[in-house]
Amino acid sequence: MTDQQKPVRVRFAPSPTGELHIGGARTAIFNWAFARATGGTFILRIEDTDPERSTEENKQVILRGMRGLGLAWDEGPEVGGDFGPYLQTQRFNTYTAALERLKEKGAVYPCFCTKEELDAKRAAAEKSEGGYSGYDRSCRGISAEEAQRRIDAGEPHVWRLRVPENHGPIEFDDAVYGHMSFPADVMDDMILVRTDGSPTYNFAVVCDDTNMGITHVIRGDDHLSNTPRQILIYEALGKEIPTFAHLSMILGSDGRKLSKRRNATSVEQYLKMGYLPDALVNFLALLGWSLDGDTTIIPRDVLCENFSLERITKKDAILDEVKLDWMNGEYIKNMGAEAWVDAVAPFLVEAGLTTQDEIDAKHAWYEKLYPLVAERMKRLTEAPEKLAFVFAGTEIEYDEKSVQKNLLKEGCRADEVLREVRAILADESIAWECDPLQDTVAELAEKLDLKKKLIFQPIRVAVTGSQVSPPLFEAIELMERDVVVARMDACIQKFFEN
Ligand code: GLU
Repeated sequence: MTDQQKPVRVRFAPSPTGELHIGGARTAIFNWAFARATGGTFILRIEDTDPERSTEENKQVILRGMRGLGLAWDEGPEVGGDFGPYLQTQRFNTYTAALERLKEKGAVYPCFCTKEELDAKRAAAEKSEGGYSGYDRSCRGISAEEAQRRIDAGEPHVWRLRVPENHGPIEFDDAVYGHMSFPADVMDDMILVRTDGSPTYNFAVVCDDTNMGITHVIRGDDHLSNTPRQILIYEALGKEIPTFAHLSMILGSDGRKLSKRRNATSVEQYLKMGYLPDALVNFLALLGWSLDGDTTIIPRDVLCENFSLERITKKDAILDEVKLDWMNGEYIKNMGAEAWVDAVAPFLVEAGLTTQDEIDAKHAWYEKLYPLVAERMKRLTEAPEKLAFVFAGTEIEYDEKSVQKNLLKEGCRADEVLREVRAILADESIAWECDPLQDTVAELAEKLDLKKKLIFQPIRVAVTGSQVSPPLFEAIELMERDVVVARMDACIQKFFEN
């Protein structure tokens, strides 16, 4: 069976560094979407061999990020699977077994060179004409008997791959980069297993990818130079080589590499900034892939149905924050009230406007807030500011400019308007609903011979504190009559009775 016919098995294999990087998330999305599009299996494997960074917390950061984006893995930590364990630190026996196989085949040899020796050789080579071209293979010629004697004597050693002589170029067809060819004769006899018995990155990855039956390796192109090395390891193990697809870099909108200093780089940050998981997945999917070159709004199900490696480009992708804001706004507009309440809840709670219990108890009421802001919001973080007035009591803060322009401006007659409006709002014979209230107030324009704007703007400032707000009477309807009337009184008193 060729790769193309085998059921697809792909993996996202992050090293836990303390964040799920946005570039990693893009890689995860491509793997996930490819698995979904092909009816394949999406595996999450944690490459936790760096003891300093690979803490339980850092692993959880990755799992949270994946869940936060709604990227469910079919095999991996916490869900299990037939090819586990899915943490590299729990797979050391498999690396040892692979090394044993390579030893039997004579595909590896022990190297006893000390760090000092290697450093000295390197320094000398760098000064010479040809420059340094990798390990000089001096231990390659040690006889098997002598090697065994030194190992038995406890001499520290690493295991190096015996790169075959006269190998010819290492070639593969990358699904993104096309045909690739690397000369094998410049390949170092790379270390597979270190002095302490731990596997190197290239060795562990190849062991895992073969043992987990990975058919397609989709990963960042920072690994492109590792691929010919890994192919040599596949060959040494006698295992089938998967299809590779290397993804181009993601650059900031300034065309520079993303950096923590200049950009938000982690999924957690983006979620905290008020981006919706659906919008983020859509946005990230388009960093290097396209459905048809035009379509920008691509919901998950469409992505999962249509994702293909053929439509990945090798051009660097630009992370355009303006586009992300726009896209997030589109998703907010279309998500519907129920989902919006659930998404916005943490932001309202964090701003101290309400509690999760309150939201759960009055979900339907919270859903009515959605039309007030849905059309105008780019990020969920804007909700608390836009809606704070709905939650405020009698005392509100007034925006100075709004007060000057709409209450205190000469000849605007806000004093008179507010008193009339107060009477209408306090009149219990008028239903506390948007339309009757608004219609009755609108009649004041004729009665007082004032433009509508001069009627409505003072009310807006009195109720919301500002001349810019969500639709006024739609909001008023959601508030308590007593509170609104009290705000009218407070406003009249503050600006017109002193
Ligand atoms: N653990 C590697 C990384 O986080 C990825 C390895 C791979 O995809 O082959 O960069």
